[in-house]
Amino acid sequence: MAVFIYKFGGTSIGSVERIKAVAKKIKQARDQGDDIVAVVSAMSGETDRLTSLAKEIQQQSIDREMDVLLSTGEQVTMSLLSMALIDLGCPACSYTGGQVRILTDSMHTKARIREIDDKNIKADLGKGNVVVVAGFQGIDDKGNITTLGRGGSDTTAVALAVALKADECHIYTDVDGVYTTDPRVEPKARRLKKITFEEMLEMASLGSKVLQIRAVEFAGKYNVTLRVLSSSFKEGSGTLITYEESQMERALISAIAFNRDEAKLTITGVPDLPGVASKILCPIADKNIEVDMIIQNIAADSTTDFTFTVHRNDYQKSKEVLEQVCRDLGAKQVTGDDSIVKISIVGVGMRSHAGIASNMFKVLADEGINIRMISTSEIKISVVVDEKYLELSVRALHKAFGLEKENV
Ligand code: ADP
Ligand code: ASP
Ligand code: MG
Repeated sequence: MAVFIYKFGGTSIGSVERIKAVAKKIKQARDQGDDIVAVVSAMSGETDRLTSLAKEIQQQSIDREMDVLLSTGEQVTMSLLSMALIDLGCPACSYTGGQVRILTDSMHTKARIREIDDKNIKADLGKGNVVVVAGFQGIDDKGNITTLGRGGSDTTAVALAVALKADECHIYTDVDGVYTTDPRVEPKARRLKKITFEEMLEMASLGSKVLQIRAVEFAGKYNVTLRVLSSSFKEGSGTLITYEESQMERALISAIAFNRDEAKLTITGVPDLPGVASKILCPIADKNIEVDMIIQNIAADSTTDFTFTVHRNDYQKSKEVLEQVCRDLGAKQVTGDDSIVKISIVGVGMRSHAGIASNMFKVLADEGINIRMISTSEIKISVVVDEKYLELSVRALHKAFGLEKENV
């Protein structure tokens, strides 16, 4: 008897009809003799709705209370799915993160899982029940409810797969796998039958929301068999995330990721002295703001211009901090732009090939797209461009790197 973790995202259980369809799918698997643990997200739009309710009450949210609020979304779907299963004659039992005892640290709204107690779930599976677990939530050692960051149900599913030594972890969502880029932006995007953990990790960290980054990290670390599949249960094996690279001739580029949540800030005329970078970035870090890309340029007058990107939600806060830094350092001025996006090409194939970056820049230049920032790693090249060029850039790169063609 195999153990499967099935995770269902917001649209997959966004209505009573969808929940009933999911229950039917789970029952079929159960009837074949497999043990099923289902992990659910909140109904689509619910986490956003709860977030905006909180914003109507307070601009600066209190993280502990946010977690109490946000965790309710998943509590609705877990109980409804359990009811739908029981209604079909399939014994089921639902659990919140705290009831399972998914122990996390106390970093409210972005907690990390420390440990999972598998006792309750195993006992239930032993009795023949399907176990339904609320995704995205846990409990800290003081009993506070925590949440795992947006998209965190993916991480709950993978962590449960590790804890229960599941045979496979299936992420059912509104696309039938991982594509060469977001099919909402490039309809010619192609589903990948396989993608390596390394590439998937880059894609998730570069903005592809199809899997939460920590879920990929966890799955890679513990070698979980992870698949992304369609929640309309259309035939097909979705995308397998694997260590194995394709046996066939590798494509140079496997996928294009993008992130609309970026903003950039520049401080100019900074005296070029040792320790300046830390004097700029430490006050930003002290405000708990994560910095992504960083560029420093020495100007002819031997002052420095320093540019970095942050999440768009942190733009205003970062600008205020930087204006203070500007005064403290006697720098010239602070400028910023919160209508930029980051576009990245990703592929383990680029490791062994030179000239990919120049190719990428030429494609963008031919479209008249100005590149504002660049960063590279072994298997990715990222550029920052104006938001209005997002679709054009993605489609031009998708075509130029031959991603429409079948190659895996
Ligand atoms: P869920 O609610 O099921 O967790 P998400 O919205 O988090 O679903 O993730 C699925 C979405 O990810 C898709 O609808 C798609 O728009 C987006 N996406 C972004 N990049 C990709 C990609 N490379 N392949 C497939 N989907 C992608
Ligand atoms: N409901 C949460 C969110 O919308 C968690 C998840 O869906 O994975 O981010
Ligand atoms: Mg998601």
